[in-house]
Amino acid sequence: MAAILSVKEVGKTYESAGKSLTVLHRINFEVEAASTVSIVGPSGSGKTTLLGLCAGLDRASLGSIVLNGVCLDELGEDDRAKVRNQYVGFVFQNFQLLPTLTALENVMVPLELRGERGSRSRALELLDKVGLADRGHHYPLQLSGGEQQRVSIARAFSNSPQILFADEPTGNLDAETSETIERLLFNLNRDMGTTLVLVTHDMELAFKTKRVIRMKGGGVISDEVTQPKEL
Ligand code: ADP
Repeated sequence: MAAILSVKEVGKTYESAGKSLTVLHRINFEVEAASTVSIVGPSGSGKTTLLGLCAGLDRASLGSIVLNGVCLDELGEDDRAKVRNQYVGFVFQNFQLLPTLTALENVMVPLELRGERGSRSRALELLDKVGLADRGHHYPLQLSGGEQQRVSIARAFSNSPQILFADEPTGNLDAETSETIERLLFNLNRDMGTTLVLVTHDMELAFKTKRVIRMKGGGVISDEVTQPKEL
């Protein structure tokens, strides 16, 4: 099957306060469309940085990243934003909902930015998909952590992304709530063919994906196909 994501010889060096820190070295891998992949490794090994580069949130210092046929290397921030709007969903550990907007409005934001008509009814549909149709008028602080993450998944799914990146999507949630979120993510993969790329420290979750990439010290130390456990 075709690769939806191709990462070649990627390196990342952060520059701050006159110092440079290289946090990724010569990373190489490809991700097949409609597959599920986990990236695991100790804290500080570069997982979040790598996910951000793959999703076009930031730019690699070296090497090349091709996402759905688009080479991200030479694109400026505006063009990377266009690619993200078109193909990418992103779910964060801390949900990153806008606190002054209701759940419904949070889901409507990307729809309105894209100038879509009927954004309210589409947002309601998306909230319904994550089981929160009756919570649209609630503000993030009036929702539990699991509910906030479901809103953020509805938002991430508003552009029907071909690839969904999730950085520790269950990191702040209890076991039972984590299971609900996991089911939601894996159902999107199964029903819509959305490619899933997860960063997690939870090996139980990692072994539910079909492939596990291990990182250490800014490099990939292993890349194995797994026998995913049934959800
Ligand atoms: P992980 O997700 O595996 O915990 P990260 O990608 O968050 O690792 O971080 C890798 C390294 O990059 C860490 O040493 C971290 O301090 C550093 N780092 C992350 N973001 C920045 C940044 N914006 N500026 C400078 N250093 C950063």
